[in-house]
Amino acid sequence: MSEIISGASNCLCGSVKITAKNINPNFTVCHCETCRTWGGVPFFALQCGTDVEITGNEKVKIYKSSPWASRGFCSDCGTHLFYKLDKTGEYNMPVGMFPNLKGLAMDMQYFSDQRPSYYCFSNKTKEMTKAEVESYFHH
Ligand SMILES: [Zn+2]
Ligand SMILES: [Zn+2]
Repeated sequence: MSEIISGASNCLCGSVKITAKNINPNFTVCHCETCRTWGGVPFFALQCGTDVEITGNEKVKIYKSSPWASRGFCSDCGTHLFYKLDKTGEYNMPVGMFPNLKGLAMDMQYFSDQRPSYYCFSNKTKEMTKAEVESYFHH
């Protein structure tokens, strides 16, 4: 099992500051259409659990992107801040927000069957299709 690490970050304009104390360095990538529409690219996500402090919450705009999750972004600069599971309150945050973390490794690719043909990663990772993701997470 990988070591849990902590990290601090802020959005581009600095209005929102985030401290996450329980980050799993094995990050996931989501190829689903929602993530690719949201960010223009796959979502490289760090699982940050619930031990997350956010200051500048008045600038955080929340968009409920599915029946089970919400996405947050800074309403001033547009930086994507998190994908949050409504039921557990767990945060997934963009890898790029935490540039100084050590030991990061791409571990899992979700919605592998929705990955478009115009890119692929050479990283050797686990993969789950849409059907596998849905049966694993939404029981
Ligand atoms: Zn901002
Ligand atoms: Zn996705």
